[in-house]
Amino acid sequence: MTLRKTACLVLALLFCFPFLSVFAEGETVYAADSWYCLACGSAASRDICPYCGKIRGSWTCFSCGTDNLSETCRSCGTGRDESLHSQVSCGDPLRAWPAVRYLAEQGQGDALCVLSEYYETGLLVPQDTETALECCRKAGDSGYAPAYLRLGKIYDLGELVEQDEYTAMEYFGKAAELGNAEAMWYVGTFWEEGVVVSRDPAKAMEWYQKAAEAGDADSWMSIAACYADGRGTEQDFPAALSYYEKAADSGSHMACDYLGYLYMAGEQVPQDYEKGLEYYRKAAALGNSRSMMALGYAYLSGQGTDADPEEAARWYEMAALAGRTDALEFLKKLWP
Ligand SMILES: [Zn+2]
Ligand SMILES: [Zn+2]
Repeated sequence: MTLRKTACLVLALLFCFPFLSVFAEGETVYAADSWYCLACGSAASRDICPYCGKIRGSWTCFSCGTDNLSETCRSCGTGRDESLHSQVSCGDPLRAWPAVRYLAEQGQGDALCVLSEYYETGLLVPQDTETALECCRKAGDSGYAPAYLRLGKIYDLGELVEQDEYTAMEYFGKAAELGNAEAMWYVGTFWEEGVVVSRDPAKAMEWYQKAAEAGDADSWMSIAACYADGRGTEQDFPAALSYYEKAADSGSHMACDYLGYLYMAGEQVPQDYEKGLEYYRKAAALGNSRSMMALGYAYLSGQGTDADPEEAARWYEMAALAGRTDALEFLKKLWP
């Protein structure tokens, strides 16, 4: 069927059955005669959006910008739902809004989670903490683990609501059950610190292990620290070192930074400037500002490399841009 034909058919349907109602599965989310415009997010009751003029059901492909009425994009083949979900996660609240509103009404976890952030901050909707929490709970209940993780953090931090570590642990546990690696790490820290459970370093280690295996690189770092300090296990520095390396290989910038420090200092491992600087560079590339400072210092003082004030200034500048105000002191000296 040609596009023109499809469009005519859709229009004919819309005009022949102006009171055709759209219901999402499960609960009734639309009033029988209203719908959410996928272009501007407005609630409309006619078949043409009164705010932007788009017709009911039309969507703009998020990958290529083509307007469509059928299920897949006629230009690039992206599916409608795939396009909507990438719109939700684009990180730009205004651009995401129409898809967030539409998918949240359908009970989609990712959209509910973003909508919850809008309610939390009062962006595009009136600030409403209760609704923010409710959206997040609904998202989690739909099986979207990051929503439970977010709730865990909210109750753990106690900024948006009164701090409640029991509830935090409950949500971290629920997210962990759904396979969320970061939540598993949090559960581990509760066992390690004895928050709302009686302290059990061995159990903490088990959770760190689970989290690391589920893809949380920083959890290898927590395991390493347990071996280094002998918490929940025998003290074993070679084992700690191998876990720091594992964390670094899995992309933990903290592990890279720490290994950089270990090799530069040469106290617990044989000093190796080349290795140390390499780890610092890796950590810096991953955004670690402490490593940027350390590289600045290495080039300033010629530690493990030829002194190079220009290179030092370059690293201090990067550190300053990453938020390290102490880098400015060094820059002042380097730029008289
Ligand atoms: Zn509209
Ligand atoms: Zn497209």
